[in-house]
Amino acid sequence: MHYVLASAPAKINLALRVGPPRLDGFHPLDTVFEAVDVFDDIEVTRTAEPTVTLTISGLGEDLPTDKSNLARAAAELLQERYDVAAGAHVHVTKRIPVAGGLAGGSADAAGTLVACNVLWGLDLDAAELLRIGAELGSDVPFALTGNLAHGTGRGEVLEALKPGAMHCWVLLTNPRGLSTPEVFREFDAIMGYERVSETLVPDTVALRDVLASPQITALGDLMVNDLAEAAFSLRPDLRKIVARIGTLGVATILSGSGPTIAILAEDFSTADAIAGTAKRAFPELGVVRANGPAAGAHVRVAR
Ligand code: ATP
Repeated sequence: MHYVLASAPAKINLALRVGPPRLDGFHPLDTVFEAVDVFDDIEVTRTAEPTVTLTISGLGEDLPTDKSNLARAAAELLQERYDVAAGAHVHVTKRIPVAGGLAGGSADAAGTLVACNVLWGLDLDAAELLRIGAELGSDVPFALTGNLAHGTGRGEVLEALKPGAMHCWVLLTNPRGLSTPEVFREFDAIMGYERVSETLVPDTVALRDVLASPQITALGDLMVNDLAEAAFSLRPDLRKIVARIGTLGVATILSGSGPTIAILAEDFSTADAIAGTAKRAFPELGVVRANGPAAGAHVRVAR
């Protein structure tokens, strides 16, 4: 292959329960991920030089293109692990807002893994890609599988869930991002948490039960994000946005560590109407219509 185009989705956490930090510093999670149809595109072109280069267009033009970029890290990890003699130029077209709590960086890593797997003819199976993905970041395995999943551990231990309905969302994205590690630090400070060897994490059983049914209102009632208070403490403007959203939609939730706020709507046309209202009410924010569940990272063109 000379050229492969893959796409990888953003995610929302329908529920995000967080325990005190483990001895390794990671927080144990019990979460329900939903992939939504906002995709970054990852194009990889084979090069004879054994190097990986990266360019970015769209929303991420200011992002670093060195090894700290997860797309480049993903390509280089594959190259080293499997002694690939060729190189690749990676181009990411970003539509997923950066540092938005939508795991855009993880999506780019997942898209690069599936694209380079085909480009370099590695023939790695899904289980191997998931293992490599988990080395790159806790949200990368879910960006590979997509759809709907229960996540435990750091979020990398996944169990697929069957949706009883399509979910229609309006995402309010923020021009100013929020750092995930900072939100977790604030969470620990608010909760008075220290590192512990073992702990119980609040579970998501009730929400997972209603997910299998078509009941959108019951789902909205059970959506929860344990990081919300920490994000609101760092960014009081987000709490004000949630208050101004009021009863628009079935329920509102902060996505991941924020600052994106996701409004769940009854159905497709109601979501379109809410998006129109939100555009007028919040001209300072981005308004993105999204539906879930959506496919995980997948190859669209290979030649
Ligand atoms: P997280 O997945 O940690 O919850 P997030 O969803 O809030 O993060 P991302 O868009 O994934 O936000 O970006 C978080 C940070 O990761 C960015 O500020 C950036 O410094 C770094 N990063 C590295 N590679 C990428 C990438 N390809 N796209 C976006 N951010 C990246």
